[in-house]
Amino acid sequence: MGVPSVFLRTFGCNFTCSGFGMPRGKLSDEAEEIGYTHKLIKSFQKYEELPLVSTGCDSYASWHPDFKELSPMLTSEAIVDRIMEMLPQNYWVDEHLVITGGEPLLGWQRAYPELLNHPKMSGLTEITFETNGTQKLSTEFKEYLADWAFGSDEREITFSVSAKLPASGEKWEEAICPKIVCEYEQVGTAYLKFVVATEADIADAECAVGAFRSAGFKGHVYLMPVGGVESVYTLNAKNVALAAMKRGWRYSDRLQVPLFKNEWGT
Ligand code: SF4
Repeated sequence: MGVPSVFLRTFGCNFTCSGFGMPRGKLSDEAEEIGYTHKLIKSFQKYEELPLVSTGCDSYASWHPDFKELSPMLTSEAIVDRIMEMLPQNYWVDEHLVITGGEPLLGWQRAYPELLNHPKMSGLTEITFETNGTQKLSTEFKEYLADWAFGSDEREITFSVSAKLPASGEKWEEAICPKIVCEYEQVGTAYLKFVVATEADIADAECAVGAFRSAGFKGHVYLMPVGGVESVYTLNAKNVALAAMKRGWRYSDRLQVPLFKNEWGT
């Protein structure tokens, strides 16, 4: 938190996570309804005009096919130009690149070397992949990342693994993939981050951590309160922090909520 960061959001996800904010076993259809309206009246021209959702995946527009037309297909050159425009000095100083999604480790793995090899990206020293931890790194990409990280002592790669618990609506056997996440630790630092709202979620997180540790996972574990809206967030934040302390885990705040509220681009 607090690190100046450029977020690169890729389109597509292998999950739909429509269980968030719903009673256990029920799934949200907010994104479907918005997609229906979108097709009916073609009212949304860009991301910022889309409604925010309170149930299901809050990044729905970055994977739901109904909103694909809002995600332009850009060349590496165009992405680099856009990044340079966003950096205050127009080159990398202390900024950090966060590659997120959707799920950024889908087929996009093949595209990152061209992007990262661009001469204007040479000053970049920190990359974080925000992943759901289900996608194996290809041999080529793993080798590429290892070379990138060893290119300089200052370079760091982090995998922020938000493994999905049953509250997400996804199946345990598809969402909890310890062997895959242990492989991330071979090329960078990885940590687990569980978004929790109830005691049952915390019990699920304990079970998942047991599975990751049994497979040899060494990284830190974070608990984060669910909720993009400040009122919800404030209600459960303390209990989540206490639950993390009790287990020797870390607590992750949602700094963007008090700073910017729940808005696109935060
Ligand atoms: S894995 Fe992440 S981006 Fe994909 S549907 Fe779930 S919450 Fe959304």
